[in-house]
Amino acid sequence: MFLRDWLLIVAIWVGLPAPAIAAETLTCSGQATQGGLLLCSAPAESTLIVSGPNGEAKREVPVNADGVGTIGLLRTETLELKVASKEHDLPPQLVTLAKRDDPFRTIEGLDCDKVDARTPEQKAHAGRSWQTKQNAFGTFSDGNGARSGFIVPTDGPMSSPFGPARKYIGVGKDGKPCDKTSVHYGYDIAVPIGTSIVAPAAGTVILGDEDLYYEGGTVFLDHGDGLVSVFMHMSAVDVAPGDTVSVGERLGASGNTGRTTGPHLHWAVKWRNPGSDSRKRDFYIDPALLLELEPHASGQE
Ligand SMILES: [Zn+2]
Repeated sequence: MFLRDWLLIVAIWVGLPAPAIAAETLTCSGQATQGGLLLCSAPAESTLIVSGPNGEAKREVPVNADGVGTIGLLRTETLELKVASKEHDLPPQLVTLAKRDDPFRTIEGLDCDKVDARTPEQKAHAGRSWQTKQNAFGTFSDGNGARSGFIVPTDGPMSSPFGPARKYIGVGKDGKPCDKTSVHYGYDIAVPIGTSIVAPAAGTVILGDEDLYYEGGTVFLDHGDGLVSVFMHMSAVDVAPGDTVSVGERLGASGNTGRTTGPHLHWAVKWRNPGSDSRKRDFYIDPALLLELEPHASGQE
C-alpha cells in the first residue's frame, strides 16, 4: 500500500475531508503504434514532454484536470519515445512503438482535371471550405470521449484503411502530365447512400456543413483532449455546431457528396495538441486503432 493510501485512510478515520490526491506516478497506456494514441496518467494540470531516441523534444502535451495526458502518435513517429513530466520529479516512461507497414501504390490513368479546383467558382468554393475547416479546428471543447473508447460510426465493411500512400499519374485536358501523391488519412466504410452515421464517442459538434468542396456533407465532432472525428461525403447532416452528442447518437446519413469515387463514409480522427496555439503540427491518427482502445481511468482513480 502506498503512502497516499495511508494518508487517505487516516484522513477518513479522523473525520477530515479527504485531500485531493494527484497521481504520483507517470504511466502510459493506449495504442503504442505509429498512428496510435497514448493515454498517460500523470499529475493533473501538469505538462508532459515527449522526446525522441536522442533526447530531441518533439512536443509538450498538457495533462487535463482529471490527470490524463492524451498523446497522438504520427504515422511516421520514431519507434523509441520518452514521456517525462516537465514539473514533477517522476521516472519517465520509455515507450517502444509497433511499426506500421503501410503499402505504397502507383495508380495510372488519373484525370488531372478532376483532382483540383480549377475554375474560379471551384477555387472560391474550395477556399471558403478551407476557411470553414480552419475555423472549426481552431476551437477546443472539453470532454473525455477518447477515454471511454470508440465504436464504429456506421455499419458496413471497411473499404480503405488509414495509412497507404498512393501516387497518381495522369494527363489533363491540356495534354500536360500531372502526378499527385497522397496518404489516405481516413478509414473508409462502404455503405449505401442514406445509411445512419452515429457518434463513435461522445463529443461536441464543431462543424456541420452540407457542402464543402472536397468533403461534401461534413461533420466535425470534438471528443475533448484535442481529438476531433471528421465525417465526409454525407448526404444529410442532422447536427449543428454546439450540439453535444453521446456515443451512438445519430449525426446524419452517409452519401456520395464532394469529390468521391463512390458512396462511402470517410471517417478521420485528427489529434490537435491542446498545449499549442499553432494548428500547423496537428495530424491524423488511425481510427482503426481507436476502435481497439480500452476504456481508460483517469490518474485520480
Ligand atoms: Zn477515405
